[in-house]
Amino acid sequence: MSIAANLIALKEEVEKLNVKLIAVSKTKSVQEIREAYDAGQRVFGENTVQELVEKQEKLPKDIEWHLIGHLQSNKVKYIAPFINLIHSVDSLKLLQEIDKQGAKNNRIIDCLLQIYVADEETKFGLGYDEAIELLRSDEYTRMKNIRIVGVMGIATNTENPKQIKEEFYELFTFFNGLKQSFFRKNDSFKEISMGMSSDYKLAIEQGSTMVRIGSALFGKRVIPHWKNN
Ligand SMILES: *Cc1c(COP(=O)(O)O)cnc(C)c1O
Repeated sequence: MSIAANLIALKEEVEKLNVKLIAVSKTKSVQEIREAYDAGQRVFGENTVQELVEKQEKLPKDIEWHLIGHLQSNKVKYIAPFINLIHSVDSLKLLQEIDKQGAKNNRIIDCLLQIYVADEETKFGLGYDEAIELLRSDEYTRMKNIRIVGVMGIATNTENPKQIKEEFYELFTFFNGLKQSFFRKNDSFKEISMGMSSDYKLAIEQGSTMVRIGSALFGKRVIPHWKNN
């Protein structure tokens, strides 16, 4: 199937369930992204700042760009002028830098707290206690140029659907707890970014509002040997 055909089918499948499709275009060319764009996609996600910036410069300006991969504080400045959503906030220090760069650019930058739900050592993210500690901190309370609009999580890379389902259910439950405790009067706290090509159906069943889909849309990635994600 072509990228356009994949896109149209996926978009219809998830949008009829009120879920937003983030087209994950990491390692894919500007041409390939353009193909999805021409078929109607406007939201793209990248996992490195370098690729994101290079592609943003070359592609139409009505694209909504999301950063979905680990973000180093010293690189926030490159995306702060235009980024629409950062899915991968995993420390107070990073959030402070995003706030600072938001102020410099006279913007409020939307962010998700990346929550560690997987049973794997390698995944980034905040533990439940760390996320709560962040939201209780004076530093967070003082920030004016960021807005936390929800949570993001990556399930364990496993063939076991029961485990994946439980991890997504945990994230959904945690989201609801945060909503009650910290965002009760805040309608913009509403996003749960969970689900990738292999598990997006399970994620949607468990309450996902955004799925991040790469290979099911663009085809398998050829992973250069110097990258590991
Ligand atoms: C690569 C990536 C995805 C998409 O993965 P696919 O399996 O290709 O759909 C989603 N989320 C994150 C954080 C990623 O790095």
